[in-house]
Amino acid sequence: MKINRDNRVVILVICIILICIVASLGFKTHGEVEEIVQEQFNEQQLLLARQAALGIAGFADERVTSIEILARDRSSDEITNLTPCFKTIYEETSGFYSIEFIDTNGVVVYGYPEYLAPIGYDLYAENRSSAFDSARDLRKTKISSPTPLFGGGLGSFIWVPVYEGENFRGVILGIIQMSTITERFLAPIMQNRTGYVYMIDSKGLSLYDGARSEVIGENYIKMLGENQSGWRDIIEKQMNGSEGTAVYLKEGDESKSEQIVAFAPVRWRNKIWSVAISVPVSEVDNLIRSVYAKQMIFLGTVIAIILCGSLGLIVMFSRWNKTLEAEVQSKTGDMIRMNKELVLANERLKELDKLKSDFVSMVSHELKTPLTAMRTSAQVLGLADAGKETKREMLDIILRNIDRQTNLVNDLLDLSRIESGRMELKFERLSLDSLIADSIESVKQAASVEGIKLDVELPESLASVKGDREKLTQVVINLLNNAIKFTPRSGEIIIKARELNGQVEVKVSDTGIGIPTEDLDSVFNKFYQVDSTLTREAGGTGLGLAICKGIIEAHRGRIWAESELGKGSTFIFRLEKWSD
Ligand code: ADP
Repeated sequence: MKINRDNRVVILVICIILICIVASLGFKTHGEVEEIVQEQFNEQQLLLARQAALGIAGFADERVTSIEILARDRSSDEITNLTPCFKTIYEETSGFYSIEFIDTNGVVVYGYPEYLAPIGYDLYAENRSSAFDSARDLRKTKISSPTPLFGGGLGSFIWVPVYEGENFRGVILGIIQMSTITERFLAPIMQNRTGYVYMIDSKGLSLYDGARSEVIGENYIKMLGENQSGWRDIIEKQMNGSEGTAVYLKEGDESKSEQIVAFAPVRWRNKIWSVAISVPVSEVDNLIRSVYAKQMIFLGTVIAIILCGSLGLIVMFSRWNKTLEAEVQSKTGDMIRMNKELVLANERLKELDKLKSDFVSMVSHELKTPLTAMRTSAQVLGLADAGKETKREMLDIILRNIDRQTNLVNDLLDLSRIESGRMELKFERLSLDSLIADSIESVKQAASVEGIKLDVELPESLASVKGDREKLTQVVINLLNNAIKFTPRSGEIIIKARELNGQVEVKVSDTGIGIPTEDLDSVFNKFYQVDSTLTREAGGTGLGLAICKGIIEAHRGRIWAESELGKGSTFIFRLEKWSD
């Protein structure tokens, strides 16, 4: 249990340390993330403004070049009607409002599309000839500031002088509509975004304003009030052709909001315009918040993984510990069991040792007693004055003791064969009634000497058994001899046999001294003798019943005793019936 708790504490501590490390790393990167997101956002806006500016400059320049190519070295014949060329340029190069030809007198003589060309318009008469004069005198393209068009909106006027050698032939005027440029390059920038785009020229004139179309053509510097100095600074930087990002406080009708402006110049020939993208600062805050949210989700996930991992480890360790504990318990149990078995084995060994000593002293005694009797008898036989009667008596004693010793040795040999499993049985089909009759015949004499009545109760036909005749006869004789031995004079012995549940049962009952209940099982142990005066008087070795038990069990049968002390004993054995 202790190991278990220790492991959990260690894992919890590791888990807390890991969570602290992850959390502190998260907080450390928090501030850095804000700065990086801000920087990247500004960079991105500036990049967008720069891309739009480059696009516009390229677009406008292409249109100027196309007219310049048209104007180069035109003969007096050619210039009478350049309309087909105008038409080709107009149609192939989108973005022109109109292309017109102005003769040397400053009068519009033709143009394309015709309905937009103010034919007959006299620049001198209208007092608008300065750009025309400048192009003619300097012999190079003049781009005038965007001016309102007749058809509405702003247009950029490109004046390209036409010379045939040294002779001035007139001016081709290409008008680019500002809305074409702005719709193509500026309007798409703010699609699906908050904020707006605007473009000004070098004088602060609004060329495009995505938020307020009504201010297009107005001058920002003039429009801005005193309190909008931040924006004014930015406009001035734009007018100078600078590039960069800046923040200003925009004052609306009801609220104030901080704006980030990214601006980039449009450098087109001698013109400098400036594209600006204005976005509320809250947009960046939203971006930062979304980055934080993702960071928090990541942190949460990492912490959850750490917690789950730790929990998993704790569960794993607990199970592991339980398995270990169970194993230790089972091993301890095994050891305790083995210990008990050792103690038992030890006791058994001691018992066996005692038995061995008892056996040695008993066998010595049993061998010595007849030897002493035989020696004494032999000495008496040797005496010269021993009468005939005495000599016969002595010879009887000697012969009886020889039988006694032979029986003892036979019993010992039988027991040894039983115990070592070497006893050989000659199985045959046996009819027990004849076996019982033979056994009675052998003990009849001894019983009558003791005045004991011997009865037999057998059924008319008794089933046969499978057994060894000699050995089973030895069992019955042994039981009958014991009955005679432990039954006082005028007693009675009955031997019965019957068939029962597929077995044949043999019972030898006597009216003898009986056996105490606690000794009923022990009498079948070798050398065991009930401790009583009569037993001692009767003598014996304590081997007979052990041999009987060995023989019956070798026949797969069972033997046991029943008794009432002082009234008699019954020894019963059962054997399997013979089956074909
Ligand atoms: P032994 O008769 O040589 O002593 P057994 O093994 O035949 O050896 O018998 C063991 C003991 O069992 C006897 O010493 C006696 O105490 C007891 N015993 C056996 N048969 C009887 C019986 N019929 N009546 C009373 N006691 C008996």
